[in-house]
Amino acid sequence: MNETETRKPDFDFENFTFGVQSTDRMLLAAYQKGEWTEYRIAPVQSISLSPLAMCFHYGQTVFEGLKAFRMTDGKINIFRMESHWKRMNRSLERMAMPPLPRTLFMDGILELLKMESDWVIDDPDYSLYIRPFVIATENKLGVDASQEYLFMVVLSPMRAYYNKPLKVKVETDYIRSARGGAGAAKNGGNYGASLLPQINAKKEGFDQIIWLDAKEKKYIEESGTMNILFILNGNTLVTPALSDSILDGITRDSLLKLASEEGFTVEERQVAIEEIVERIENGERVEAFGAGTAAVISPIETISYKGKSHATYLEPDAGMYRLKNKLSAVRKGMNPDTYGWNQ
Ligand code: PMP
Repeated sequence: MNETETRKPDFDFENFTFGVQSTDRMLLAAYQKGEWTEYRIAPVQSISLSPLAMCFHYGQTVFEGLKAFRMTDGKINIFRMESHWKRMNRSLERMAMPPLPRTLFMDGILELLKMESDWVIDDPDYSLYIRPFVIATENKLGVDASQEYLFMVVLSPMRAYYNKPLKVKVETDYIRSARGGAGAAKNGGNYGASLLPQINAKKEGFDQIIWLDAKEKKYIEESGTMNILFILNGNTLVTPALSDSILDGITRDSLLKLASEEGFTVEERQVAIEEIVERIENGERVEAFGAGTAAVISPIETISYKGKSHATYLEPDAGMYRLKNKLSAVRKGMNPDTYGWNQ
């Protein structure tokens, strides 16, 4: 395949596992001598790096995750691209890595998507996941910030992600991130460190973990690799306030804006796990859900804390479904795009 030819993918769009198949092309740009080169788009292929490349040793790797959808008018929408670019640059800054120019990120991804548009099929449950990432490529074993980097973007087909409500466990031993740490950055190490507690929770029969704050193990931070939100009494949306130990989720932000429009009271504040458990035990209506690009929202069915399971509100009239539908409709172009989120 040359770099300009377009090819209808020979791919079973109905049955596949997320993340193992890329589309035909990828984007690459290098950072050398203090600047980013122009991007180029090439057939997906293996890349070759020296074993001394710094990304293998000291964790300077940063990534993003966003999605493209086929809209009802047939156009392709990349949702909140500018917000993802800004967040990527915040992550890069935290990891002492150079920022990506707006044009490199935005124009590069737009051009890649134009070439790979056949992969964005018209199906309500389908999206094309976009994975930009930057890795340190200087060859040097000394612990230092690399002077050379590689920016790449690959694309991967995706279908509706988590479908059944989650049984989650409040993690009281391990933590995801501490104040002053790098939890607000999408760097690889945060995810590597979360795997063992996640695997342990799976062995105990849970789908996911709720992370607590590192210092007091008292306040809720996130749920797995999603932000966590609650709807209390059907009318108040509560979510942990952002800090440097919580990833500033773009779905979270979108849902908060839509919830205000829908008449919910929105509270961003510290949320103690004891508060949530007590409300449920007192018979209050508590909805709990994770929010992230992958699934928009993932309803939580039970929250297990210190060995006791607490059941949340999951009836079809739950407010979280209303918010999910509203956000999905904006992304698909069926609702007005009041905030200019669609590109
Ligand atoms: N928290 C963490 C730790 C995540 O990895 C993600 C996924 N990027 C989120 C929250 C949700 O962020 P977003 O809504 O931007 O996908």
